[in-house]
Amino acid sequence: MNSPIPDVIVIGGGLSGLSTAADLASRGLSVFVLERHQHLGGRAYSFIDESMGEEIDNGQHLMMGCYHETRWLLRTIGSDHLATLQPNLHIDFRHPEFGATSLHCPPLPVPFHLLAGLLSLKTLSLPDRLKLLRVGLEIHKSPETIEPSIAALTVHQWLDSLGQSEANKKHLWDIIAVGSLNGAPKDVSAVLFYRVLRAAFLGGRENSSFLIPRVGLSRLFDEPIRRYVESKRGDVLRGCAVDTLISEGSRVKAVRCSDGVNREAAAFVSAVPWYALSSLLPPNEPAMRAADHMTASGILSINLWFDAPVMDEDFVALLDSTVQWVFNRSKIQGASASSGQCLALTVSGANRLIDKEASELVALAVEDLRRVFPRVGTARVVRSIVLKEKRATFSQRPDVEPLRPPCITSMENLFLAGDWTNTGYPATIEGAVMSGRKAAAAASAFLQSGK
Ligand SMILES: Cc1cc2nc3c(=O)[nH]c(=O)nc-3n(C[C@H](O)[C@H](O)[C@H](O)COP(=O)(O)OP(=O)(O)OC[C@H]3O[C@@H](n4cnc5c(N)ncnc54)[C@H](O)[C@@H]3O)c2cc1C
Repeated sequence: MNSPIPDVIVIGGGLSGLSTAADLASRGLSVFVLERHQHLGGRAYSFIDESMGEEIDNGQHLMMGCYHETRWLLRTIGSDHLATLQPNLHIDFRHPEFGATSLHCPPLPVPFHLLAGLLSLKTLSLPDRLKLLRVGLEIHKSPETIEPSIAALTVHQWLDSLGQSEANKKHLWDIIAVGSLNGAPKDVSAVLFYRVLRAAFLGGRENSSFLIPRVGLSRLFDEPIRRYVESKRGDVLRGCAVDTLISEGSRVKAVRCSDGVNREAAAFVSAVPWYALSSLLPPNEPAMRAADHMTASGILSINLWFDAPVMDEDFVALLDSTVQWVFNRSKIQGASASSGQCLALTVSGANRLIDKEASELVALAVEDLRRVFPRVGTARVVRSIVLKEKRATFSQRPDVEPLRPPCITSMENLFLAGDWTNTGYPATIEGAVMSGRKAAAAASAFLQSGK
């Protein structure tokens, strides 16, 4: 970096902070990222498992074609070739009793691709499939018409009001809601779910396709972003926490860091999660109200290595099971499946399970797999890793949504980023990147105003 005092200091090197930095760097501004941990990526990172010598994610992440801000980021840092967009939405489902089915949206114009996909869902009766169209009609109505009337509702309350049967909920809507909102559909916000469905199923056909990372998260995002930022007028310092902000009047002057150095900048972006904010902001800062009200929702990731291949698909959703998604890591990452197979299993909204012993969780997971993949009965699990992210996201309840803070704060030159801020989107990669770009735009406008 050329200037000793950067234009912007970004506190936190998760995806929101790194996106802030990439956006600012792309505008020609100088930026300095300070990250508490030795690894970048926050809640989306990889590490090397010494025993298998493989790169493992802290949890399998799935993205979608409608992640437009994330796709901008991937293009900007030169990583877009490391994630594959499905040509058309295709989800394989497995049910222990009803067997295999899939949601396949054929290459028809929007919304006929979705209509055809929904009507082909074999685990639902024809009357139930027709009821799905009621939700399809509802998402075509404008946010101004719909959102005020469902603001206080949970996903299940909204789906009930649209006459959805128990089977429709269990065999389709719940798996989408739990995966996108990381919580039980009886608890999480209907407004956020409505926005997820609109983002995925309106607009271009590719919006509803899955975007699947072919490499670990750190190779996809964290390291390429660091290299991009450092190739511009930026710097990234790991292992350095910001302990406090030093203010002067209505501005932040500097940050006091864990290495004992005070660092100054013209503007600052806090990109720390809601639970890490209290050490940085005064209690009377409006954003603290949201942070104090938020609770955490956990995600469990169970990685299993089998001594022989047990599944053929890239990934499947399990119905009526504890595990919701199974990813064929060996296939997705292009490893040879001849000797064995590594599967990454996900349980979102996992607070009730997260304190169980790893051995119990592995047993639960293997039993779920055995019920739908007969080859699990004869294959042997040769290694397992259970990863528990207790604070994977904030719990996205309807009462929390109106409290999510904007990126501006009461300090003129301090801006907020993070998946928990008011992006209008769930706490996801896309939400994090959106928030980072919003904060970068706000910081850049502040600098240009010459205040
Ligand atoms: C297991 C798991 C699975 C997930 N699956 C999906 C998925 O499939 N699809 C999807 O879109 N999203 C998924 N998510 C959500 C997604 O990972 C998060 O929404 C996103 O990574 C949050 O980014 P962030 O920058 O807002 O926060 P964080 O990633 O939490 O980043 C904040 C950073 O700030 C740092 N920090 C904190 N305090 C300080 C300080 N005082 N000084 C300096 N640094 C500090 C932290 O160390 C951290 O690196 C998943 C999350 C988890 C945990």
